[in-house]
Amino acid sequence: MRQRHPAATSSEHLVIVGNGMAGHRLVEALLARPERPARITVIGAETAPAYNRILLSPLLAGELQHDALALRCAEWYAEQGIELVLGEQVESIDRSARRLTTDAGRELDYDRLVLATGSTPARPPVPELELPGVQVFRDLHDADALARAAETGSNAVVIGGGLLGLEAAEGLRKRGQDKRGMQVSLLQRDDRLMNRQLDLTAARLLESELRGRGLDIHTDAQLERLEADAEGQVCAALLADGTRLAADCVVVAIGIVPQAELGRVAGLEVNRGIVVDQWLTTSDPAIHALGECCEFEGHTFGLVEPIWRQVEVLAAHLSGETVDGYVEQPTATKLKVSGVSLYAFGPTDPEPGHEVLSYRDPQQGDYRRLLLRDGRLEGAVLYGDTASGPWYFEQALAERDLSACRAALLLGAADAQALLDDASNESPQHPAKEAA
Ligand SMILES: Cc1cc2nc3c(=O)[nH]c(=O)nc-3n(C[C@H](O)[C@H](O)[C@H](O)COP(=O)(O)OP(=O)(O)OC[C@H]3O[C@@H](n4cnc5c(N)ncnc54)[C@H](O)[C@@H]3O)c2cc1C
Repeated sequence: MRQRHPAATSSEHLVIVGNGMAGHRLVEALLARPERPARITVIGAETAPAYNRILLSPLLAGELQHDALALRCAEWYAEQGIELVLGEQVESIDRSARRLTTDAGRELDYDRLVLATGSTPARPPVPELELPGVQVFRDLHDADALARAAETGSNAVVIGGGLLGLEAAEGLRKRGQDKRGMQVSLLQRDDRLMNRQLDLTAARLLESELRGRGLDIHTDAQLERLEADAEGQVCAALLADGTRLAADCVVVAIGIVPQAELGRVAGLEVNRGIVVDQWLTTSDPAIHALGECCEFEGHTFGLVEPIWRQVEVLAAHLSGETVDGYVEQPTATKLKVSGVSLYAFGPTDPEPGHEVLSYRDPQQGDYRRLLLRDGRLEGAVLYGDTASGPWYFEQALAERDLSACRAALLLGAADAQALLDDASNESPQHPAKEAA
């Protein structure tokens, strides 16, 4: 459905709360549009201007320096005529007065408000999580603190074997290896790493690669509690099976929770996230939400790809353009651990009606598993050579019938596409054939 929102008036003041990846991308998208709101203010709780949060993992691993993460400096905002307030947290919104207040006591009136407050790390229901030495991995401060821990500590335990936990564990191991050689253990509650993306075979390949690098991986692991030493600093993690792992640093990476409290307190409709419609509008027509803090049709978000699509819809909407509403689409997952190539989308295990095609080359360390239904691709897991991943994903999004190239599907994009092209040339509907 397409909708046109009236263009912003010259005096309209747009306030964006959150100078993270979504908030910043929205600024860039608005600047590309002449009909944008005339006055834009951005308020961010972090002290640094927006940076590429995705690159915190290579930063922790010591593969990148801080400046590689920068998106725009504070001066750039000033040059664009945008007021940027950093290091202040918006504490309350008075919707009837259209005014917000920050923790520094600043009051700001708005005509239109965008909440882009992201999410916070989820915490397992384990006592002693407040102990010194227990950390999360969300922002620059966390990455710096973990880097220091890797350089000075001896043992780390990472709780969570999903994308973030794996990147944290591998980052700590890599960062620490040149110094004292930190021993890193990783706890995964499920029977496999990345259980939301990988089948068992790919997860085992990943596990064996990471074990080979020195990570101590515990699957089916149930954390019972953490122990403190005489100074009150965390010193060990105890598992339900009695295993005791020494730990001067514990990283909690079990998932994220939308940061929706500001919206909840302001009386907006909130479930897990701030509920928005197709135009990212909340239950208050003057307030929008996007990124990890929002919830659309029961979905919340944890990857940037859908957030970029939200940004385009909202920027167009705020600039008075006619625009199609946001539509949920599947996303593909990649892991940012150097030397490990992984690409996955769709269901992790076959469902009734799925045809399974798989290929494994133990010599090369390659594994591919495709799930098809009625000739159409619904899921893929690629480990090792992932070059064809985006092509598979494209075919799945287009719901293309791949029956004509089934024999070459596992060989990769080039071979499969060649067969598809041949088949379409032979088709009686094909213009080339008709012309001939
Ligand atoms: C280590 C790491 C690696 C990642 N790797 C990938 C990856 O490889 N691929 C991928 O797609 N995604 C990845 N992600 C996820 C991606 O970074 C997020 O999806 C993205 O940052 C979400 O953008 P956002 O703007 O919604 O939230 P954020 O980027 O978190 O921004 C929210 C901002 O709002 C601020 N804020 C919150 N409340 C207030 C308030 N009340 N007042 C003022 N400011 C406030 C916060 O301080 C924060 O700066 C990774 C995340 C992490 C932490």
